Amino acid sequence: MNMTLKRKLLTPQELQQMYPLDEESKEVKRKNDEEIRKIFMGESDNFLLIIGPCSADREDAVLDYMHRLKDIYPLVHDVITIIPRIYTNKPRTTGAGYKGMLHQPDPNKDPDMLKGLIAIRKMHMRVIKETGFSCADEMLYPENHRYLADCLSYVAVGARSVEDQQHRLTASGVDVPVGMKNPTSGDLTVMLNGINAAQHPHTFIYSGWEVDTTGNPLTHAILRGYVNDEGKTFPNYHYEDLINLSKIYDETHFKNPSIIVDVNHCNSGKQCLEQPRICKEVLHSIKHNAILHKMVKGLMIESYIVDGNQKVGEGVYGKSITDACLGWEKSKQLILDLAEELRVIKKLYEEKQNA
Ligand code: PEP
Ligand code: MN
Repeated sequence: MNMTLKRKLLTPQELQQMYPLDEESKEVKRKNDEEIRKIFMGESDNFLLIIGPCSADREDAVLDYMHRLKDIYPLVHDVITIIPRIYTNKPRTTGAGYKGMLHQPDPNKDPDMLKGLIAIRKMHMRVIKETGFSCADEMLYPENHRYLADCLSYVAVGARSVEDQQHRLTASGVDVPVGMKNPTSGDLTVMLNGINAAQHPHTFIYSGWEVDTTGNPLTHAILRGYVNDEGKTFPNYHYEDLINLSKIYDETHFKNPSIIVDVNHCNSGKQCLEQPRICKEVLHSIKHNAILHKMVKGLMIESYIVDGNQKVGEGVYGKSITDACLGWEKSKQLILDLAEELRVIKKLYEEKQNA
């Protein structure tokens, strides 16, 4: 094989023993998980915002960002539940480029997987301890999920992974909501087959073990736009797209049919400053249609401290080194605006119910 076995790494259990969550943090995650579970099961109509940088590239700026979210959370928590994005491993379209903190705890240095494993666990733990948020990460490498499983309140399966069997089977054994993105081609059946597979029990090989899973009833759809044969991006957040998916859901027997709209990536055509407009359009669709009000559970937003993105090595604090993100001031205003509109929508549906 063209592969050198460099060194044996810590197992997930060993890493968890070295850096265990304390009782208080476990309780924080348990409470967050319960609040989020109720949203997907239709027992709470709080609206989810899965929000944060495209990649969590440095601990200081990520923590700074999370504290900003924490400070405004009480202003919106009556209608919004926040799950911050701490994405520690990044899929790359061509294979080249920064692969995330797991591979490169320092983006300017060579990969170091041991340091990376420790860095991502410590960062997730610090955020829980200091802010009370337990976060979302992408499950890019299913075998690695258990290094962080006790810290995460939400898991996404990315557009480039959603057709993969090991991702689907592993998702069936995850005990928090898993969002399956539509693939980059936009083929909804790939995403729906992924949801179906993950909602059912499976037996398979995982990290050298034969394992049984129970199926994950909280697996759901994330619409992120798509690319056509010629590489042109197209959105799938419009009213008609949401209605189309809600109709497909109606014809299936999935548990807890739910939709999250990712307002960046191909939905914004990678124009990060379009995200506020797209968020508001989705809320307009929800306001207009009761079925969408029930099924669209939230939004995914790419947001950081400084607008836009930069190349690795440019060194601007709080600016993304992967996809362009909405900066903090605009993000804060967006969260406040969304909360205001969500209160209007809540009142509207309450009035309809009482009429
Ligand atoms: C992301 O959420 O940053 C991401 C890589 O998403 P997608 O899989 O939709 O490209
Ligand atoms: Mn991204």
